[in-house]
Formats: sequence, C-alpha cells, structure tokens
Amino acid sequence: MSDSIGGSMRYLLLVLCFVCSLVSVSQAQPTAPGSIAIELLDKIPAATSEKKEVTNLKATGPWNGKAAAIALSYDDGLNTHLDNVVPLLNQHNIRATFYVTGTSHSIVTRSADWKRLADLGHELGNHTMVHPCMGSKPGREWVKSDRDLDNYTRAQFANEVTQANTLLSALDNKTRRTFAYTCGDKKAGGESIVDIIQNTAVAARGVYRGYNVPGKIDLYDLVAYSVNSHDAETLKAQVVKGIENNGLVVFVFHGVGGTHDLDVSQSVHQELIEYLSEQQASLWVAPVIEIADYIVENGLNKQ
Ligand SMILES: [Zn+2]
Repeated sequence: MSDSIGGSMRYLLLVLCFVCSLVSVSQAQPTAPGSIAIELLDKIPAATSEKKEVTNLKATGPWNGKAAAIALSYDDGLNTHLDNVVPLLNQHNIRATFYVTGTSHSIVTRSADWKRLADLGHELGNHTMVHPCMGSKPGREWVKSDRDLDNYTRAQFANEVTQANTLLSALDNKTRRTFAYTCGDKKAGGESIVDIIQNTAVAARGVYRGYNVPGKIDLYDLVAYSVNSHDAETLKAQVVKGIENNGLVVFVFHGVGGTHDLDVSQSVHQELIEYLSEQQASLWVAPVIEIADYIVENGLNKQ
C-alpha cells in the first residue's frame, strides 16, 4: 500500500517537473503574437550573428508549408529578361512568370530563346498582342489611338487575348496560363473586361498595391508590388512583410538593367534573388500559375 502511495507521489513529482520544464521553455522563448504556426526555426538558437535574421523569420505557414509565397513576374517581353534575368534565376533554381506582349521586338526576333525559357519551367503569361492601355487616364498622352483601350470593343480585346494565347501555345505547348492587365487597366470601350479574362485565364495580376493575404485573395485582381528604381533593402523588406503576414508577394518587374522606363538595376535584382534563395526555409517561390492553382485547391481565395 505504502509502496503504491510512494509510487504515485514519485509519478506526481515527475509530472510536475515535466510541466515546470515546459513552462520555463515557453517563457524563455515566446512566440510572436498572432503567428499562425509555431516556427521551428525560432526554437533553434542562431549559430552566428549573420544567421540571426534567417532563424527569426517564420519557417512554416499556409503556402505549400512555407510562411510566404513569392511570385516574380517580368512584363512586356524584353531582351533584358532573356539576358539578365533568366540565367540568374536558373542558377538559383527559381522559376518565374514572364508576361510577354505578342508583338514585342524580343518575341519577334528571339522566339527560340523564349521557347527555351518555357521548356525550363518558367511561365509564359498573356499580356495581349500590342499592349493596349486606356488613353483617358491621367498621364497617358503616350497611348496611340490604335492601341487605346478606350477605342477598343470588348470583342476586339477578347480576340487579341485569344491571339496572344495562340502565339504563346506555339512557344510553350500549353493551354493554361495567367494574364497581366496591360497598364493595370480593366476596361475596353468603357466596359469591364474582367469577365473575358475570367473565361480565358487561370488568374490575373494587377499592379501597385502591396501583397495578398490568404482568405482575401481575388484571383482576377492579384495584388502586386511594382518595382521601379527601388533599392534592395526596400524589396527585401517587402519579402519580410510577406513572411510576417503569411502573404503572397507578387513582384512586377519591367526593365532589369535598362531598356525600359520602369527599371531596376541588375545588382539590386541580383541581391533580391540571392535573398530569396537564402530564405527558402520560409518561402515558396513559384510562377503565378502554380500559386494560383494552389490558392484554389486550398481555398485561400476570397469566398
Ligand atoms: Zn506591360
């Protein structure tokens, strides 16, 4: 009897000690308020001061098991994408989305290079044939009348999207792809063209507004972060914001190392790509189409 009581007491003490040790661990290493998952990497002390930044970021979350999703998108089908971007991405095993305009000089003259890029798993996204924009918006004096979406009919716009899909299918042999609104515009002849895109594209990217949050994602107006003369720290801060908020950050690039009014230097772009590579414990970096499919499969879009 007394042995049994002694045994019970020892068992109780053991349980109490175990609970005490749990409390002391949780007090010593508090998790960030509002974090969805307990971040494994937070529990591992940084080996060196350089590693500290990496280990403090979330490692797990709703994006294919990672804390944030990153999509890199490059607009307008430029030679700098082929020459300055693709080799770097391939070197880091990062795949991206290229929203090409069907009649861009580079597409016309270097179609074999664009085909090769698609063969490597990058997405060729639809960005129309001639890149029409709404001339009625402020600062749009440069829009030519035959490329003015205000002068288009919806049928004309729909035909152009189909033509671009046909051209891109000849390059990548695919029938599914995402779309990027030219100049971010969503009207032709004064009428919405969003339903046309909903019927022809897997998802569509807008411009200029930050990052996407699970549960509030509009697949046909993906929030994006447009890059123009930014420094590397600002771009990295956007990635960190994505990680901290379990967001999807879609970067929009035009020129990389020149040849476009909207541009980023090659060194800044390279620093961002290297940063994404370093942070892969926290990030899922993929083409827009793969992330869009994942959003639908996992119900992360706006219900
Ligand atoms: Zn464009």
